[in-house]
Parts: sequence; C-alpha cells; structure tokens
Amino acid sequence: MTSITPNEYPVELEPVDITPYKAGNTAIDYVTTFDSGEPGPHVVITAVVHGNELCGAITLDYLFQNDVRPMVGKLSLAFANHQAYHSFDANDPLSSRFVDEDFNRTWGLDVLDGDRDTVETRRARELRPLIDQADFLLDIHSMQHKTPALMICGPLAKGQQFAKDLGTPEYIVSDAGHAAGKRMRDYGQFGDPDSPANSLLLEAGQHWEENSALVSVDTALRYLKLLGTIDLEFGQDDHLELPDDQKLVEVSGPVTIKNDVFRFAEPYKGFESIEKAGTVLGWDGDEEILTPYDDCVLIMPSRRLTKGQSAVRLGRIVN
Ligand SMILES: [Zn+2]
Repeated sequence: MTSITPNEYPVELEPVDITPYKAGNTAIDYVTTFDSGEPGPHVVITAVVHGNELCGAITLDYLFQNDVRPMVGKLSLAFANHQAYHSFDANDPLSSRFVDEDFNRTWGLDVLDGDRDTVETRRARELRPLIDQADFLLDIHSMQHKTPALMICGPLAKGQQFAKDLGTPEYIVSDAGHAAGKRMRDYGQFGDPDSPANSLLLEAGQHWEENSALVSVDTALRYLKLLGTIDLEFGQDDHLELPDDQKLVEVSGPVTIKNDVFRFAEPYKGFESIEKAGTVLGWDGDEEILTPYDDCVLIMPSRRLTKGQSAVRLGRIVN
C-alpha cells in the first residue's frame, strides 16, 4: 500500500461554523431553500458530501453571508454529511471523510430503498426529496492530491455540454462513477439522457489548500449566473480568470480493487499521462494493472486502496 502521512498537505483552510445553518427553513436539517416566487429552475448546491472537504462549506457560507437570493425559481443550499464535517480535526484531517461509509456511494435505488442503516444512508434518505426536486445540482468537492481543479460531468452528453457552458475549470472529466455505489450526481433524472435535469460535481483542488475555496466560490457564482439564478454583479470581485479553453477527459473506467493488497508502481497524484499502452501502473494482489491505451491519463488516484473501491480512473483527453 502507498503510505501517505496526513501531513503531506498543510491544512491552510479553517472549517467554517455551519451550526447557524442547521435549522434552515425546510423540514431537513442543514438545508435552506430560497424561493423567488418567480417561475424558474430549482437550483441546488451541496457541500460536505465528504466531511473533510472544506471548500464547499466555505462557499455556502460565502453565499449566505452575501445574502444570496434567486431572481427566478428556487435556490437550495445544503450541507450534506454534516455529521462527518463536524468530526473534522485539523490534526487528523484524513479521517473525517465519512462516519460509517462514503455518502457518495449510497445513491443507488437498491441502497436508498434498502435497509442498510448507517449515518450516511439515513442522511441520503433525508436529502432525497430535495434532490428529487432539483433541476440543477452543483456538488462541491475537493481532492486528496494537489492537482488542477476538475469538473466531473458524468457519462452523458448533457453533462459534458453543461460543463462546457460553464467554461471552468480547465479540465472536464466524463465518467460513469464507481463500482462501490452510485454518486448523488448520477442519481435519478441526472442519469436520464431524456431529462433536462443536469448536475455537475466540482473537484476544486486539494482538500485543505486555500486556492480550493477560491475556485469553489468562483465556480458556484458562475454556475448560478449561467442558470440566471443571480445577476452578473453578485460577487463579481471574487471571480477568477476563465481558462483559455477546456480539456475533456473521457474516462474508460475505474480500476476497481479486487484483492486485499493493492499498490501503485509510482506515487501517482493525478493527471500523469502515461505514454505507452501496457505500462504497469501497479499490482492488484499479484495481478499487474496495465495502461489500456497510449497517452492514458490518471484521474484521482486514491490513497484508500481497499477492496471494492476505485484505485484510480483511466481516461483520454478527447478534444
Ligand atoms: Zn469528495
């Protein structure tokens, strides 16, 4: 196994206090819905699906502090895995990703309608009525390694187009998710090519780097402006430069770990491009894991190398 100390990346961000948002104004804790009273889409932004990803909470706090209100439709701001977030400890920042299991693998109907009872399945069932109503979802995350921000747009053309319309970040990653369970961004109508509902998942940078919060705020503002939810002046001083052009990475599939011991050949961090097909990336038990094609790009190699989970996603830059 790759050994990584928790101190590999400094904790530059401070977790914001989200307890003022617990009561909200809906039947669900940590969910606030603003209704313009005008026709328009219901736009939902979610943060802390993973408890140690601070930039999303900072972004929702920023929107609240700046009195964001939708001009049309509705806007909901939701802190997803607030229990995990509340266990965040800057001295042990890796361990608060979840309480019992990964919240972002609980969105299959088999799990939502099933009887698996964990902190995360309970919370997913609580949030499900909100996500069912969402026309557009932006789910804000961050990454284990310090690599450029990327937008995970799902496998469908509508998601790819949505990420291009947004114009940032530079990298768009189109993938179908993980064998370990469905993500919220792929749930229900978001995964239906015939539905106009659409969702994006932002990976704003390394979990605790200051820049991830700047990227996250900028992206959320642009998202709300693209959908006509807020006017162009709102937060205009907090925008970052748009990338010159975006690159779309199509993921051919995750490498799902089959054995008890998995190790990478190199300490990959993500966005490495491996020139030759057949290059050894690592070993799953005794089995060599080879690059399936030339110029294979590694997306988000994981430090949690456990059976059934994705070790890394493999893709190609297609545009
Ligand atoms: Zn995450």
